[in-house]
Amino acid sequence: MPADPLYPWLMPMWQRFMEQVAQDRLPHALIVSGAQGLGKRRLVEHLATALLCHAPSTDPQRACGRCRACSQVAAHSHPDLIRVVREEGAKEITIGAIRTLVRFAGLKAQYGGRRVAIIDEAQRMNPNAANALLKTLEEPTAGAYLILITEQPLDLLPTLRSRCQQHHCPPASEPLALAWLGERLSDPGQALPLLRLAGHAPLAALSLAEPEQMVQRAQLFEALSALVGGEREPIALAEEWLDRDPHQLHLWLYHACADLMRLRAGADLNQLRHSDQVSRLQHLCEQVNLPRLGRLLDRMEQTLPLLRTTVNPQLLLEETFSAWAATWHSAATPAETRDAPL
Ligand SMILES: [Zn+2]
Repeated sequence: MPADPLYPWLMPMWQRFMEQVAQDRLPHALIVSGAQGLGKRRLVEHLATALLCHAPSTDPQRACGRCRACSQVAAHSHPDLIRVVREEGAKEITIGAIRTLVRFAGLKAQYGGRRVAIIDEAQRMNPNAANALLKTLEEPTAGAYLILITEQPLDLLPTLRSRCQQHHCPPASEPLALAWLGERLSDPGQALPLLRLAGHAPLAALSLAEPEQMVQRAQLFEALSALVGGEREPIALAEEWLDRDPHQLHLWLYHACADLMRLRAGADLNQLRHSDQVSRLQHLCEQVNLPRLGRLLDRMEQTLPLLRTTVNPQLLLEETFSAWAATWHSAATPAETRDAPL
């Protein structure tokens, strides 16, 4: 088996896979989906190793970790395993990579056993690549398994989805995730707020605990206060934040907006995603009304999927910060003046 152990919150899924393997019911095409930071990739690596191992144990169902196949999977040199990943810097998985996979699928297994193909970030396949893959799915080869890993299964072609069995990794159970995080954080008291901020994806929570991430998030809240206070301009602010991960940044902003709605609705402070930024959130909340916040939240919701397209990230960030500024600044409409809580 791979040297890194399976994550405890994924054990129920693992057991379902192993039952299917033991009963020879594992379908030839699978989609493993779920949020970023749950450990999907490691789960799939374990599954591939278990499928290729020459001497798997039966109780519990595991790869042996010692045979030639197990060593070759770990060393990325197994002739019957192919991994398709997006090239560094590329936005898409192109048809070239999928053609290599299709050729691989048409070959005989080198070891006479199973063959496994893994496509990471499968939602990144461009239309030509996805169509090329469809043909392979229409004519599955005996003993060949295709595993697609994705955070956005709905971005896959419906015809692809319908040919695969879907396995969704749910958010991690809180007790398991807290125990795991508690062993890894220098301040275990941070485990719960970070787990909530990460939507119960423990690996994402762990990365949020990195000092750089903590500093960036605090700086973002400072910047938002300055933006709504009229001390910063949206365009200049967007330029300053352009070198950060745009998806992460928009997700933080989305959750900040949702937190402001929760505060307005009188929610328990424990329900906030940015629960370590309560005073900043409360300050922002005092100066805005609910209908405007609602419109900003709608807008943030629409912005997140745009980040997966070829939209200009600077323009998007400028528009987002402008929308935040306008939510606090533009003149109230007559309806707002009448209905607003402030
Ligand atoms: Zn083995």
